[in-house]
Amino acid sequence: MPHDPSSPQHTDGPHAAADRARRDPRYPGLPEPPPPGTTMLPPGTFAGVTVLITGGGTGLGRAMAAEFGRCGAGVGIVSRDAEHRARGVEAVVEAGGRAVGVACDVREPTRIVEAFDAVEDALGPVGVLVNNAAANFPVAAEDLSPNGWRAVTDIVLDGTFLCSQELHRRCASRGAPGVILNILATQAFTGGPGMAHAAAAKAAVGNLTKSLAVEWGPSGIRVNALAPGLFPHEEMREDLKALRTDPSVDARRQPAYRTGRRHEIGWAATYLCSPFAAFITGHTLVVDGGNWLRRDFVMPPLTPVRDQLSPLVRDQPAAER
Ligand code: NAP
Repeated sequence: MPHDPSSPQHTDGPHAAADRARRDPRYPGLPEPPPPGTTMLPPGTFAGVTVLITGGGTGLGRAMAAEFGRCGAGVGIVSRDAEHRARGVEAVVEAGGRAVGVACDVREPTRIVEAFDAVEDALGPVGVLVNNAAANFPVAAEDLSPNGWRAVTDIVLDGTFLCSQELHRRCASRGAPGVILNILATQAFTGGPGMAHAAAAKAAVGNLTKSLAVEWGPSGIRVNALAPGLFPHEEMREDLKALRTDPSVDARRQPAYRTGRRHEIGWAATYLCSPFAAFITGHTLVVDGGNWLRRDFVMPPLTPVRDQLSPLVRDQPAAER
C-alpha cells in the first residue's frame, strides 16, 4: 500500500494539520509511519494462535487486537462493557481475523478463569495474553480516596497478575509455550504527578514483568512490556481529554513533534509477541518518540499539581476520587 502522508489517518485532527503548516520548516519532527493496514510481519505469523486481550475493545487495545487479527490470530476481547467488546470484535474481523468478546472484570479471579474458558471454547488454547486493561483519572494525591486508589491498583496490578497466573497455569499444564505482554505507561519510570495511583500500579507491573520473565522462562513463557507515549483517541475519558484542550499542543510538546498513531502500537505489540522476538523476555519497549526522556535547558516555572488539576477535580464526583 503506498504511503500517503496527507491521509487523514496520518494526522491527529485538523488542529495538528494546521500546526504542521505553521511549523518552522527546519524542524519537521519525526516522520509518519506507513499507513494503517500495512503489514509488518509475514502474513499468517499468528495463524493458529489465540490471543486474549484485556480491554481490547477501545483505544490502543482495539488497535492491537486488529493487528493480531491481520496477522492471522484468533482474538479474545475481554472486558466489562458489551458495546466496547463488540467494537473490538468488529475491528478484528474487518482486519481479516476471528474474534470473540467475553465479559469479565479483571479484578475478579473466578471471572478470569471463566473468561479464559470461554475464549478457549471459541478459538482454541490461549498462547498470548495482552494485559492492556487499565483505569486512570487525574487527582491530587492528597485527595485520592481509598476506593479510587484500590480501583486503579486492582485493575492494573492485580488484574495483570491474576490474568498472567492463569495463562501460566494453562500453558504449564499443556506443556505449551506462552507469551505475555504488559501495557505500561512511561509514568512507570518517572512517577506521575496528578496520577500517583496509576503511575505506582504501572511501575509495579514493570517490576512484575521482570520477575515473571525469569521465573517462567524455564517453562517457555516470555513476559515483556510495552510503554506507549501519548496516543490520543476519542474513547479516552473526558477528564483525560480535558487536560489537553487544544490537540495541536500535544504535538508541539513532543520531541517527535507528533503524537503516536495507534497502529504503531499494533506493530510493536505483534512483534514482541511473535516468534521473531523468541529470545526477548523481561524487556520493556518504549514507543513514545523520545518524550519521556525530555528535559529542557530552561524548564518552565512549576505549577503545583493541585493548581493544574483544580478545574477538573472540582467537577469530579467524590466517589471517583
Ligand atoms: P482505554 O480506551 O481507556 O481502555 C481501557 C480498557 O480497559 C477499556 O477497553 C476497558 O474496557 C478496559 N477495562 C477497564 N477496567 C476493566 C476491568 N476492571 N476489567 C476488564 N477490562 C477493563 O485506554 P487506552 O488509552 O486505550 O489505553 C490502553 C492501555 O495503554 C492502558 O493500559 C493504558 O494505561 C496504556 N496507555 C495509554 C496511553 C494513551 O495515550 N492512550 C498512554 C500510555 C499508556 P471496559 O470498559 O469494556 O471494561
